Amino acid sequence: MMTRRGLLKMAGALPLMACLPSPGGAQDVVDFAQLKEGYAQRLKNILAAGGLPYVDIESSCNSTKLDIDSIAHSMDRLNIGLMALSADIGKGQFEHWVRFDNLSERLLARYPDRFIPVGNGGQAPALTEATDEFLDAQEAAAKAKKIMLLGEFEFRHYPSPRQVKRNELDRDATIPIDGPIGHRVFGISATTGLAFQIHYEIEDELLAPLENMLAQYPKARVIWCHLAQIRYIERASRYTSTYVDALLRRFPNLYFDTAFGDANSIYPLSKQHHARVWAGDGTLKAEWRDLIAAWPGRFLSALDLGGDRLNRIEEYDRKHRAFLNALPAATQHQVAYRSAWSLLFGTEFA
Ligand SMILES: [Zn+2]
Repeated sequence: MMTRRGLLKMAGALPLMACLPSPGGAQDVVDFAQLKEGYAQRLKNILAAGGLPYVDIESSCNSTKLDIDSIAHSMDRLNIGLMALSADIGKGQFEHWVRFDNLSERLLARYPDRFIPVGNGGQAPALTEATDEFLDAQEAAAKAKKIMLLGEFEFRHYPSPRQVKRNELDRDATIPIDGPIGHRVFGISATTGLAFQIHYEIEDELLAPLENMLAQYPKARVIWCHLAQIRYIERASRYTSTYVDALLRRFPNLYFDTAFGDANSIYPLSKQHHARVWAGDGTLKAEWRDLIAAWPGRFLSALDLGGDRLNRIEEYDRKHRAFLNALPAATQHQVAYRSAWSLLFGTEFA
């Protein structure tokens, strides 16, 4: 049911409601131009009130457990501009043959000025056990202009710290990025022009296959999530700010998101401080700050909220803002929302 307040909110943001689901349940094509107008207004409102809005380019959830109003209200309270909140297709849904979760349609129907329509999380079991059906559905949504962004696809993913805590060690994804699934995903991005997100742990031996794919698909637009998040330093001798700088030079369609822990965050399996951008005293290391300042258009704000931590949005916001604050002032605005704007719309935010 749509509340009166929800309707008023939508009416205020978007005079023409082309993005509403039709009564039959099928969705009209999302009108990106209208969404863009609503997004711009929301960002400008926050800026005019003296806040720094940001675009969270990478968060995910279990759509069957999501409290949409609660997350929308948190965004207002915390001055979060926009969020690309993707639905992971969980095991229960997968068993019922869900291959595309229409969460974005539901989010836009309720709050069209703050959610970016995004494809589903590319992870097991959907990505690994029903690869073709799952990717066909993501590609169809992209081609039908129902989404602006794809992912996050988990090519190499160690168990997350919270899964380690819960002793769920089976999420240890290894999908060769230069194998059939990788080629399919890079191909979808290259042909549709939509960016996609990858989760790809940083290991020496994984770098060359990714570089080869970037070289082979120059039109694919890749967001490598979690800048400088290295869980095992002994496996990653080559990844430095100089290495990332060289990648940015070589591959104009490569971006990085800045979802990483704070200086105290420890990856429990290796017991290492895995957010390598921070110095021991908690300040942003000069080499990473300088790299981001040199390529501000290639770095994106991100919270990486997940189904098991949506209630910690305030803490994640505080930590992300501490990172933004450590950047030069002009760079802050670029990373916070301007980079995402250019990536999504191909124009500067004005
Ligand atoms: Zn990730």
